[in-house]
Amino acid sequence: MWVAELRFRIIADTNLSIAEQQVRRYLETLIFNGQILGREFPTYQTDDAFCSRVVLPAQDALSTGHHSLLGKAAMEAFAQAGLAYPQLTLLGPDLMSSHTDPCTEAKHYIVFSHFAENVSPVRCAEHFAPVPLYRLQPTGSKQDHEELIRWQLQYQALDEVQMQQERVLHKSAEKALQGLHSTLNRQGRRFARRIEQQQGKTCYYYLYSGSSTDCQAEATKACPSCGEPWRLQESWHELFQFRCEPCRLVSNIAWDCQ
Ligand SMILES: [Zn+2]
Ligand SMILES: [Zn+2]
Repeated sequence: MWVAELRFRIIADTNLSIAEQQVRRYLETLIFNGQILGREFPTYQTDDAFCSRVVLPAQDALSTGHHSLLGKAAMEAFAQAGLAYPQLTLLGPDLMSSHTDPCTEAKHYIVFSHFAENVSPVRCAEHFAPVPLYRLQPTGSKQDHEELIRWQLQYQALDEVQMQQERVLHKSAEKALQGLHSTLNRQGRRFARRIEQQQGKTCYYYLYSGSSTDCQAEATKACPSCGEPWRLQESWHELFQFRCEPCRLVSNIAWDCQ
């Protein structure tokens, strides 16, 4: 991932709130197409410009070719708001985040989210590295990835809650993450299916497993979807001990039982 700065130069006598709205609108199209990561973008104003700090999944993430339709429309609106096209300065690699998938096109995928990482919710199944969403066909109704990113935000929020020692919503957060038929997981699996169909590549869905009522039976549990054995001989990516090919599911031995 790369830390970068976007500079929006003021080129005409403009109303500042209109200019600011335009910057916001453009950044939002980038978020929902997976071109910038995270949720907070410190933005400051200089004498002649607005500047925003962003994190990019790859150096070329903001090439116009990667923009969504909404991103292209936002680009067209800069002049009207009295701003020049954004100028990008790459500041350096982000030392805090994982490496983007090196594949030009991954051979298969895993939909995987975790509270601690602000990265794409889609991983290359070979390298277990995040795949920037703009490299995939649009999964959402607006020809971008807005719904998938909004789904990921909810997943991360629930994961964050159930990670805390003094959990305020222990059971409901864990049920949502762990239950095959929870709304969260039904939506997540729908995204995985869509990606598989659109990309023509296998796409697994990670089913979180945190606690179990029977740790002895945990290691030999069956696939919750088809009821067949799905235990792997060796852990996959040091994380998954279970994989069901027909159901496209991967999972782990419940954390509490490890
Ligand atoms: Zn890869
Ligand atoms: Zn199965």
